[in-house]
Amino acid sequence: MSFSSSDIEHLLTTSDPTAVDDLFAEACRVRDAVYGRLVFMRGLIEITSHCRNNCLYCGLRRDVQCRRYRLSEEQILDCCSIGHRLGFRTFVLQGGEDAWFTDERVCHIVGAIRSRFPDCAITLSLGERGRESFARLKEAGADRYLLRHETADPDHYALLHPAEMSFAHRMQCLRDLRDLGYQVGAGFMVGSPGQSIATLMKDIEFIDTFRPEMVGIGPFIPAAGTPFEHRPAGSVELTLRLLAIIRIIHPHVLLPATSALGTLHPQGRERAIAAGANVVMPNLSPQDTRALYSIYNNKLATGSEAAESAADIRARMAAIGMQVPTARGDYQ
Ligand code: SAH
Repeated sequence: MSFSSSDIEHLLTTSDPTAVDDLFAEACRVRDAVYGRLVFMRGLIEITSHCRNNCLYCGLRRDVQCRRYRLSEEQILDCCSIGHRLGFRTFVLQGGEDAWFTDERVCHIVGAIRSRFPDCAITLSLGERGRESFARLKEAGADRYLLRHETADPDHYALLHPAEMSFAHRMQCLRDLRDLGYQVGAGFMVGSPGQSIATLMKDIEFIDTFRPEMVGIGPFIPAAGTPFEHRPAGSVELTLRLLAIIRIIHPHVLLPATSALGTLHPQGRERAIAAGANVVMPNLSPQDTRALYSIYNNKLATGSEAAESAADIRARMAAIGMQVPTARGDYQ
């Protein structure tokens, strides 16, 4: 099935429930044909809440006064051990842009995970870095990198970010990651201030041409202490339609049911799976730092421990007829 831009616009705006149900059903067929009834699990480890950037939407932006933390290598490896025992075979190290995490330190951590857990994929999500830095991290053993493009419209990008950040550099990072052989994740928030159907059309076009291996899409949720703290949250419904459209135009994409969806709706992640998503990312961060990684308000922190998050996710997926394998879940 291929879409024209007017089909896509119609699907994003229609109030015909049958059209939307058909869209979701088609997305599930497309996903099942490529990956089967499987949902891949990634263990998210939030390694630092320090950030030099000042993104207007983010609760960890530099100007927010909050308690900050960073995990030690030992703490990160402990999270991985716990995760490995629970069946995780991908670890995602995410954080703010924290100068403490130099190439040397991150390479050491990546190397340690690589040698202790050789059957696991290592994903990094540490913001923008230079090409040389991405190359060194790859060399040390990283397989994948998540860096949402946030919006494919340069004017919209400028509205979401301070003047010192640039759309061009974000895109350059994504191209560098791709050239270096990473499996690359892009993505965007739904309902961020200034977003329109026109900017969403550009996001879809970008994904269709760049074809990232992963695409993270979640609703915008206002974060305390940010310039957007009083803006309305994005729509769950629109997020689900976007997931389905992206699944259909890019059948092999790895598409997470994001925690932001789970935060806005109790069945948000299940609904994402029913719209074509096939990845979940339970939190493996230590109990006492979870609440501090507050990129948005009321961030879902299911379970007080990793084991609980993993069990919760497995039960939720089983309830909707999906299996969660113990596998890296690479792009196929
Ligand atoms: N510093 C890293 C990781 C950022 S956090 C980086 O720059 O890539 C991961 C993602 O959370 C961001 O890319 C953004 O799309 C999303 N995010 C940040 N603030 C948010 C908010 N208020 N609501 C919803 N999603 C948000």
